Amino acid sequence: MKSVIQLNSEAVRFREKMGYSNREPIEIQNIILKLENYTLMKLEFSEHISGMCVLDGDSKTIAINSSMSVGRQRFTMAHEIYHLEIEHISEGKICPSGIYDNRSDSEKEADMFASFLLMPYDGLTWYIDKFQIAEWNIRNIIALSQFYQMSYMAVLFRLQHEDRITLEEYEKLKKVNVRSEAIRYGYNVFLYNSSPETDKWITLGEYPRLLEEKRRMIPESLFGQFCREGFREEIENGQIKEGVVLND
Ligand SMILES: [Zn+2]
Repeated sequence: MKSVIQLNSEAVRFREKMGYSNREPIEIQNIILKLENYTLMKLEFSEHISGMCVLDGDSKTIAINSSMSVGRQRFTMAHEIYHLEIEHISEGKICPSGIYDNRSDSEKEADMFASFLLMPYDGLTWYIDKFQIAEWNIRNIIALSQFYQMSYMAVLFRLQHEDRITLEEYEKLKKVNVRSEAIRYGYNVFLYNSSPETDKWITLGEYPRLLEEKRRMIPESLFGQFCREGFREEIENGQIKEGVVLND
């Protein structure tokens, strides 16, 4: 098992590669879409699976469970980046959702890397200093979760792991209804809900881009099938079927 320091430095180096410092919040989905040959799929898996990654030649696919909270999905995206970009696994991988003690080192490392990628060690210490955080009450924890766009549980786990809260506080805080507390303190609950309907079954990145590019080379019957398999019927139809398109 890699050390925590090593995983933090791997996360910070990956941030640097993508043009980020070791402090600011990142937009993890956009990072995936900037990586070459990447397809990002959002699907409603069973509750036991948080995500998976698949390698096929140069093509890399990350699939995440869109029925989990948006914050959790962001964490899973960072977790899968570890398998593909840091660990360089040779085959695909299915990642279970629970935090079990008997998980493999690879799964534990991917989780720790994900935590540091979203919120590096230096980022957290900078945040504490900048906003003069004297205690980790529910309001301060939600504010931190919102700042780094991390799930409430991922933030709690991290604070406990760094001994910033005790195990007793962790157990107490994890029972809190984060949605109602977020509303009370004036935050959007988007992070703590599952994806909106338009983002539940969708494929982004390389797959839909290639499909559009190679449209003329693919027989019509197959083209429709490929679009439907990628949940991108609007490409097949040449239009967005529902909703008002707002360009701004
Ligand atoms: Zn994994």
